[in-house]
Amino acid sequence: MKQRGLHGITGGIHRRAALLLLPLVLSSGACAGSGTPSTPDDSPGIRQDAETGYWYGTNDWIEYRPGTLPVILSAGHGGALEPGSIPDRSGPGIVTVRDSRTIETTIAASDALANLTGERPHVVISHLRRTKLDPNRDIGDAALGNPEAERAWREYHGFIDMAKEDVTAEPGTGLYLDMHGHGHDVQRLELGYLLSGDELETLDDAALDVLDGEGTSLEGLAARTEEPFSSILRGTESFGGLLQAGGVPSVPSPRWPDPEIDTIPGSEPYFSGGYSTRRHGSVDGDPIDGIQIEHNFRGIRETPQARAAYSEVLAEVIVTWVGRWY
Ligand SMILES: [Zn+2]
Repeated sequence: MKQRGLHGITGGIHRRAALLLLPLVLSSGACAGSGTPSTPDDSPGIRQDAETGYWYGTNDWIEYRPGTLPVILSAGHGGALEPGSIPDRSGPGIVTVRDSRTIETTIAASDALANLTGERPHVVISHLRRTKLDPNRDIGDAALGNPEAERAWREYHGFIDMAKEDVTAEPGTGLYLDMHGHGHDVQRLELGYLLSGDELETLDDAALDVLDGEGTSLEGLAARTEEPFSSILRGTESFGGLLQAGGVPSVPSPRWPDPEIDTIPGSEPYFSGGYSTRRHGSVDGDPIDGIQIEHNFRGIRETPQARAAYSEVLAEVIVTWVGRWY
């Protein structure tokens, strides 16, 4: 892994952040086709804490802790704040269940990386409860037209864009991990690369190698290396393979090349990656690859001890992966 000095980047990010944040936050809304003309007054509440260097969105609903590793973690579904000024999200297909303890798990992962490397990843957190904002959806379903929720959505993705800008500047490539929690029966991590469970089951390794990552959140990585895509996705050195070797059951991996474990095809629930993984991963060959990590609860998220033990394994896997690919 390329190491960078803290001081160089600290000065750099503060300078660049001031210039970059507002245009990025505002253009994010424009990209999503909100149709709302943006002005610099749109996010007057953004501030940076002078002591910690952390950034906060309006009302401190969104938080960004800048890091120096080429790794970005986001937690969009773990928040608890329920401001009365935003109506509860509801309607057909609107999901509001909270991914409990995912903010704590994300911070534990940052701590484990700091213990292991002396440096920290970039961390972006939504403190809003999912009844108020779902940042893992496009702005329409995320905020259901509420201006305050829309602003928080733009700040959340604007902060991730800021982190990506920093990683892209140096070392140039990196990894985005969107941290979630699932309630499925099978206690294992579900790693989402924008391939459905059916696709993982239908495509054999030869077909995956021909696909070469196209349309997945690792498309950029697949294009930069000669490594067969099946190996990157579910071989012994894949993200899931490394986790599995560290004692953390994961799919896809050599143990579970696809989600199926019973005899009924297509029956096993599996999250394949959502809006954030598509937007911030390397679907179009971008330099930042993405993985959605859906965590089971038992033995992973449930206690501080479990989170710390899991995070030690995750940090080792991240360091191995980053050292190899970026
Ligand atoms: Zn989630």
